Amino acid sequence: MSYDNNNIFAKILRGEIPCKKIYEDEFVLSFHDINPQKKIHALVIPKGKYIDLDDFSSNASSEEIVGMLKGINIVAKKLGISIDTGKGYRALANIGGDGGQEVPHLHFHLFGGEKIGRMVQ
Ligand code: AMP
Repeated sequence: MSYDNNNIFAKILRGEIPCKKIYEDEFVLSFHDINPQKKIHALVIPKGKYIDLDDFSSNASSEEIVGMLKGINIVAKKLGISIDTGKGYRALANIGGDGGQEVPHLHFHLFGGEKIGRMVQ
């Protein structure tokens, strides 16, 4: 499967569709999920064209991988849910069909602001 340049997050990265931006740097863009499942529901996506976490782990540069992980931490801090606040959150990536992935551009969901509950339903 090749990367679909017309997926919704590719359009957001190109500025063709608006988003409620939380954070942006060289490696990542973060914005609020359009259909939040918890009080805080943010998405963190790499700027590079990666379909999912497997694609990213196989093909991204070390700098991009570090940038992604650091981006999650920066966003959690900006949202006031990082572990140093005493709160915490859940980071989750759906991968492929069985994983329930709908948008074919890697994204981490960050859920927080309340107890997140069961890991899998
Ligand atoms: P997934 O099922 O892991 O692929 O999650 C895709 C997520 O993208 C869902 O939580 C959607 O609510 C979210 N989403 C879809 N379109 C947008 C959009 N335009 N802006 C923000 N979030 C979106």
